[in-house]
Amino acid sequence: MGLFSKEACTFCETEVGMLKRSKLASKEFICNDCKRKTNYFARMDYTSKDAAQNMMETLAQEEADFEASFDNAENRFQSAERNFKTWDLGSLRVHYRCNTRIGAFQINLDAMSRYEHIPVFYFDTLIPYRFEAENAVLEDSRRHEVTNMNANYVTVEERKDTEGNVTSCTVVIPYNNDCIREIKLQGDVRNKEEEEAFYDFAQRMNQDRINWLNHGLYDEARKNKMQMKNISDTAMAAFKAAATGGNVEEAVKQGIEMANDIEEGKVKQGFFGKLLKK
Ligand SMILES: [Zn+2]
Repeated sequence: MGLFSKEACTFCETEVGMLKRSKLASKEFICNDCKRKTNYFARMDYTSKDAAQNMMETLAQEEADFEASFDNAENRFQSAERNFKTWDLGSLRVHYRCNTRIGAFQINLDAMSRYEHIPVFYFDTLIPYRFEAENAVLEDSRRHEVTNMNANYVTVEERKDTEGNVTSCTVVIPYNNDCIREIKLQGDVRNKEEEEAFYDFAQRMNQDRINWLNHGLYDEARKNKMQMKNISDTAMAAFKAAATGGNVEEAVKQGIEMANDIEEGKVKQGFFGKLLKK
């Protein structure tokens, strides 16, 4: 297997030389054209053939869902999140946007221009990587890491020359995904001001994660309140039905359906309030 030998891409079967292919974790080859249908931040030596295939099938939908999530924005602040904000991290220009309600963000770089999708990342996966067997249930300790309000998982690493001057910085975003594990944004820096941009960006992301957790807690509390109200309404409806010779089973069934709708987030507070007045 020499430097110039060609290998077939396991997806499109094109024969490509060494510079136009990568080796997957499962030992097959993927050509650069097929690789551009996967996540730019995925490392092919971590990625199995199945995982690459999975990315090719899901990235477009995730991207579309993320875009659509801004259409459902309930207020101006959330609509404002739709726009990418540009950050100059030293020599690296980064475009970032985040929907703190659904807890997802996108990072776009000039180097990604030939990739088909701007990948979507999720705050519930923004924890240090740990290998898990497939279909393993998320451990309680990991759940705790996801919901930890005090954690600042996004950090900055500095690289110095022999004289102790910082020459480059890297924003390190841990990611609990077999193919990605961490997202690194490295740029060369010339002065203190350029260094600070990295810390500002890391802080922005950590704060967005906290905002997402706060939204989640708020929604949870709101859901619980709605469930309590539904239980008492259902009991009252069943009691009324029993007293007036109505259909008790139907009243209970409606209560259960309502409970499920609340859990799935189908019932909004205003709408629910109107329903209760009936
Ligand atoms: Zn290919």
